[in-house]
Formats: sequence, structure tokens, C-alpha cells
Amino acid sequence: MNTYESSMSKLRFAIMGGTFDPIHYGHLAAAEEVRVGLNCQKVIFIPSGNPPHKKGCVRTDEAHRYDMTLLATASNPYFEVSDIEMNRNGYTYTLDTIKKLNKYYGNEVELFFITGADALLELETWYKVEQLLKLCSFIAVTRPGYDKSKLEQKLYHLQSKYNSELYIMDVPGLSISSTDLRKRIEQGTSIRYLVPEAVEQYISDHKLYRK
Ligand code: ATP
Ligand code: MG
Repeated sequence: MNTYESSMSKLRFAIMGGTFDPIHYGHLAAAEEVRVGLNCQKVIFIPSGNPPHKKGCVRTDEAHRYDMTLLATASNPYFEVSDIEMNRNGYTYTLDTIKKLNKYYGNEVELFFITGADALLELETWYKVEQLLKLCSFIAVTRPGYDKSKLEQKLYHLQSKYNSELYIMDVPGLSISSTDLRKRIEQGTSIRYLVPEAVEQYISDHKLYRK
């Protein structure tokens, strides 16, 4: 990661946003790596409500996605789950979420939004990205299947265009995606060791992702 300097007095909270449909070890490993690497006091997982970039995709009920996120993070005392994007009508925008969190935590806290390489490459399509980039720093984590040099180029472009705080962090490469997990369940193949056991059990109990 590029060197990152900030005022030592501030608390650091990382935000891990996602549809988590379902949450998997790729999300958890990336979040833990950022927490330790940036010395964050906590990581807040925020299951998304109705993000515009996943328009038209079938999404599992938000209550299930929230519950699975709770189960997956329960054993890590530094992880918490927020329902800030739940029960919102219409689209949910990261900008609104970050504004709310900034207001709630005030100046004592510095927020770092974690995105995977794929999400960072598409960041400019996000709602009012210029404003968003002024409100929090972004940590782009590496992800198998996404070229790191493309990520670096994009980062450089965003930094110079918006004069914003963006950093790349190398995380253990776990080639896991929710899309692949949903496919595996539909086809009846195993998801063991790709998601926490409690999540696997929850999916089975609630018969999620079956045809
Ligand atoms: P889907 O296939 O449904 O898009 P996903 O596996 O990409 O699911 P999301 O909920 O879309 O999971 O991802 C939330 C965030 O976590 C995104 O910023 C994404 O880039 C990141 N992420 C997801 N999986 C990984 C992984 N294996 N390694 C690093 N980052 C990841
Ligand atoms: Mg995704």
C-alpha cells in the first residue's frame, strides 16, 4: 500500500459494503487484512439495500443477507454489522450512507471504505462520486481475476482527477465470489470452506439459492 499518513489522534473505522449475497471468506479476509494493516479500531459491514449498480439482478431478501453477515462476523470482536442501508425505500447510495456515518461519528473518526478491485474499477459510475471521494478514503483491495496494473492506473487517474485519498492494499487472493457460490448451490455442489460454517448452515436451513 502507498504510505498513509493521518492525524494520530483520530480513530479509524473501515467500512465493508456489499450485497453479501451470500457473504464469503473473500470478504472476511479482505476486511481483516485492512483492519490490521491500517490499525483500524473496527470494521463495519454494511449489507446494501437496493444499490443501483445491481439493478435487475435477483437479490436475496435483505433480512437474510443481514443475518448471514451477522453470523459470519460474530467471532471477530472487531467486526460489526450495520443495518443503516436496510429498510430504505428506493435506491441506496453509498454517498448517503457515508454522510450519515460521518454525522454520527463526528470528527474523531476517520472512515476508510473498502472496495475490491472490481468495484474500484467501476467507482466512477457511482452516484456523485466526486462528493463521495471528499468524504472518506478508499482502500482498494486486490482480487484474483482483476489486473493489478489496471487497478493502479485507475487509482492514479482518480487521485489526480478528484484529488482524493485512495490506496491499494494487497490481500490474500481468494478466488471466491457470491456469483460462483450461488451457482454452486443451484447445481448442488459444495460451498464448504468457502463460507463460514454458520453461513453454510443458514443457507441450507432457509433453502436459499436453490432453483
Ligand atoms: P457478486 O458476485 O454477487 O457480485 P461478490 O463476491 O463480488 O458478489 P459483493 O457483495 O459484490 O461480493 O462484494 C462486496 C465487496 O467485496 C466489493 O467491493 C467486492 O469487490 C469485494 N470482494 C468480494 N469478493 C472479494 C474477494 N474474493 N477478494 C477481494 N475483494 C472481494
Ligand atoms: Mg460483486
